[in-house]
Amino acid sequence: MAISIKINKTQSSRIHLCDFDNIEFGKIFSDHMFRVDYKDGEWQKGEISPYGEISMAPSISALHYGQAIFEGMKAFKGADGNPQLFRPLENFKRFNISAQRMGMPSITEELFMNGLKELINIDRNWIPTKEGSALYIRPFMFATDDFVGVRPSSNYSFIIFCCPVNSYYPKPIKVKVEQKYVRASEGMAGYAKAAGNYGISMLPSMEAKKLGYDQIIWTDGRTHEHVEESGTTNLFFVVDDNLILTPALDGNILQGITRDSCIKLLKKEGYTVEERKISIKEIISFAKEGRLTDCFGTGTAAIIAKIEAIGYEGEDYILPEADKRKVSNWLYSTIYGIQTSKVEDSFSWIEKV
Ligand SMILES: *Cc1c(COP(=O)(O)O)cnc(C)c1O
Repeated sequence: MAISIKINKTQSSRIHLCDFDNIEFGKIFSDHMFRVDYKDGEWQKGEISPYGEISMAPSISALHYGQAIFEGMKAFKGADGNPQLFRPLENFKRFNISAQRMGMPSITEELFMNGLKELINIDRNWIPTKEGSALYIRPFMFATDDFVGVRPSSNYSFIIFCCPVNSYYPKPIKVKVEQKYVRASEGMAGYAKAAGNYGISMLPSMEAKKLGYDQIIWTDGRTHEHVEESGTTNLFFVVDDNLILTPALDGNILQGITRDSCIKLLKKEGYTVEERKISIKEIISFAKEGRLTDCFGTGTAAIIAKIEAIGYEGEDYILPEADKRKVSNWLYSTIYGIQTSKVEDSFSWIEKV
């Protein structure tokens, strides 16, 4: 059954107000959004309308009990000037994994993909073309029952909106190994992109900032001896410029699509990649021996976020200069190159809109 989407285009585009050379991440929104509501056990008709405020009751359960999930993905312009997406089906699948964990209904592939593509097509002029930029896409779903009481909601809204973003070459960051707070532990929802997982990370990162760090490295909840992830990125450690270590998907960390793309590219290039439990002591001894040649986080927003120093038990371990990082520089230019059709898409990751 083909779905039809109601389209209500804006009468006054805001695109002339956007300075595409200076976009602050996450603050500028394209002209339209896609919305579809879930009620009486099914998804209703989807609608594209001007980006704007939504009304809701103060009692909606997402605000009180946190049934809220999201995704993050990007659109680019290909060699032919048309919009294209990077592995969007992976975001769709992960969205439903998050929904399932939070007791929320799954969305159909048709609704997710058609809503997404229709929206990107309508707002295609918002895709920046300057080197390093992209249109960031935020799909999300939240519980809308007008009811105070802890139980799964019967009503939900699914919305997608977009933000043009410039190149996001963050300067290399200093991270602190967190040994007091825990992001997720066995049986919790670490693998879900659930709003609450980010709420609980605010205080620990504020405390790390006070100590002069940009971000924290989460460790496992039981022993605090194994590294998990950092902020909203998955972690990679490079030993002697050829052995790549990354924590295994143990249910506590997010199954990053950038992480998976990096692993596939690295293996194809002939690197040894080990996905396993990684103890912080092991990483620190590699750093002490001068063998930790690269270390970075991976995620949709930055692609690669280089780590310049790791703080552990009061000591900062400094990593090689950012420009000299063979692995992370290669990964960044390969992935961004594939996304913008400048590098061959040998894994068929690009989907035309
Ligand atoms: C989104 C996210 C990532 C990165 O996932 P990508 O699919 O690569 O963007 C990693 N960790 C956390 C906690 C995240 O929320």
